[in-house]
Parts: sequence; structure tokens; C-alpha cells
Amino acid sequence: MKPVAWIIAYLARWFPHRAPTGLFPLGRPDADSPVLVTANFTLTIKRVRKALAGRSVWLLVTNSEGINVWCAAAGGILTENRVIDAIKVSRLSEKVRRHEVILPPLSAPGVDRKAVRRETGFRCRFGPVYARDIPAYLDAGKKKTEAMRRFDFGWRHRLDMFVPMNLPIYLAVAVVLYLAEPALLPGFTALFWTAVAFLYVFMDWIPGRTGWGQAMLSGLVFAIAQAALDWYSLGNPLAHWGRLLAVLIVFFAAGFDLAGILSPRTSDAERLMSNLGFRRFGSLFVEKETGRVALDRPKCHGCMTCSDICPVGVFNGLDEEKKMLFKDQGACFACGACVKQCPEDALSLIG
Ligand code: SF4
Ligand code: SF4
Repeated sequence: MKPVAWIIAYLARWFPHRAPTGLFPLGRPDADSPVLVTANFTLTIKRVRKALAGRSVWLLVTNSEGINVWCAAAGGILTENRVIDAIKVSRLSEKVRRHEVILPPLSAPGVDRKAVRRETGFRCRFGPVYARDIPAYLDAGKKKTEAMRRFDFGWRHRLDMFVPMNLPIYLAVAVVLYLAEPALLPGFTALFWTAVAFLYVFMDWIPGRTGWGQAMLSGLVFAIAQAALDWYSLGNPLAHWGRLLAVLIVFFAAGFDLAGILSPRTSDAERLMSNLGFRRFGSLFVEKETGRVALDRPKCHGCMTCSDICPVGVFNGLDEEKKMLFKDQGACFACGACVKQCPEDALSLIG
């Protein structure tokens, strides 16, 4: 991928970026090499290829319509049918001896492994969440550490999301300002990126249950601080009322989908969409189930699949009767992965 194309793909993540689908040899794979499945989102493929440099594996790129694995699986685009198609069209069974593919675990909300096995004869196992962990996972005989199972919403993820997720919001306002009142553009630019940086750094400590709520609370605090300063220095708290309004508007805009992008919580944008009756908006926002995971205890037979694929570690292992225990049921953000993958239909989302 050329540097300019990569920069465009990186910055414009809101939009699909399709890469060619099919079976690709990395290195010099043979009939015994592992097969890794991924989505045809250019950035994902670039990261997988980089992580696997120097390795000999098969890369099976499925059609996710240019959307990243998690969003495509949660949005009903990356499903078992796409994986089945990819396996059949690529004639994978003629290339490898062992009928097994390694799926990214973030595809679990969309891909029914049982159906893939039934239709193709290929067994699916879920690999590590991050491409960077694939070599260590393969070297360990396809065994995962606890860290390889979890999605990390920490600073690394936030740095990765900072510019691409906020640039479209910034540009949408900046273009209008540039056309209507160009003199306001520098002030808006400084205010917007300061607000976003503040939210990205301090989100974990700002009170509030929703990202929008946290953003508005922060905006209110900034606006009150500005008003207090004006009162003290100019004797009029509304001396810069336009600035106060701008602070509130900017924080409101910066809070758009803050929770959905940076934390394991329901996206505010998707919740709003659902309340308004929209099932889908663009390629990234889709109506999803909400609630918390619940276990139908008698049905559970202790296969540990749920614990293996939950990206936030809601499960805790088995009790003495070989039934799954919860570690932190309240941490569930209804991604749907365990519900989809439980072979006994013992899990559901309630409330
Ligand atoms: S996936 Fe289902 S059957 Fe397996 S341990 Fe979890 S709840 Fe039990
Ligand atoms: S417990 Fe909740 S967060 Fe974890 S996999 Fe199941 S639905 Fe997703």
C-alpha cells in the first residue's frame, strides 16, 4: 500500500476501504501452514501482513465490504456466509491438509462457527484479538494468553483513534465556518482539538454514564470557568457569550460516539439511532441489541467458549459443577459474541 493511500485510508476510517478478497500466500506456505481469516479492510490487512512478515501462512481475506472486522461482524456484514464463500471460492480444501481456519475473535458476534463447519468441513478457532499477537500465538501452539483475548481500550487505542475518528466531525464544521466566517476558524480549530484531547485523556475520570453526558458535563465546566473569569476581569459573566456557546457546541460534537469508540459501552450514536427507529446509518452504525449477558445455568456444559472470546473478560471460569461463572457481569456491553457462539444457547442478553 502506497504511503499516500495508507494515510488516506487511516484518516478516513469512517468510510469503507475495500481490499481484494481471496486466498493469499504470505511467505511460502504449504499444505500444513495455518490459515488466518481476516476482513477486506485495507488497514486491517496491512497490520496483519506486517505482523506476519517472515512467516509462511495462508491469509484468507473475506468480503466485509471494506469495513473493519468488529464493525462488520456486529453489523451483520461479516457473517458465516462470507467465511463459507471465501473457503469455497478459494478452494481452500485443495490447498491445506488440516481443515481448520483461525478467525479474529472480534468476528465472533457475526460468524457462526457451527455453520462454517457444517457447510465446509472446516473447524474454526478464534485467534488473538490483535494481529501483533499472532506470531506469539502460533509459536505457542495456538494457545492464547489472557491478554491476547482482551480488547485494550487504553492509551494505545485512543492514540490510534484520536485523529481518524474526530477529523470528519472537525472538517464538517470547519468547512462551513471557512465559507461563512473564516476569521473564526483558528479559534474553532484550537477549541475543538483541545476539547477532544481533554475528553480522550480524562474520559475515565469524568462522571457520567454516556459519552455525550460526559462531554456535556466537561463543556459545562469549561463554560462556567470562562464565565467566572469574565465576571472577575470584566464584571460581566456573559461578556464572551459567543465563546461560551461555542464551548458547549464543540463539546457536544466531540462527544459524538465517544463511549462507543473509547470504552466498552453502548455507542450513544447507536442508542439514539435505535430510539429514532433507524436500523442502519452508513456502514458503521447499526442497530444492535442492548442489555447484559445472562446465563441459563442448566444448559451450560462448561466448554469455555464464552470466556475465550469475551473481549472484556466478563467470565471467570467454571465452578465445581462445570458451569460458567461471572467475574463482572456488569462489564458486559452487549457485543453479542458469547451469545452467538455458545453451543448450548445458554447465554442471552437481557434488560
Ligand atoms: S459457551 Fe455456553 S456452554 Fe460454553 S461455557 Fe459458556 S455458557 Fe457454558
Ligand atoms: S459477556 Fe457481553 S461483552 Fe462479553 S462477549 Fe458476551 S455479550 Fe460480549
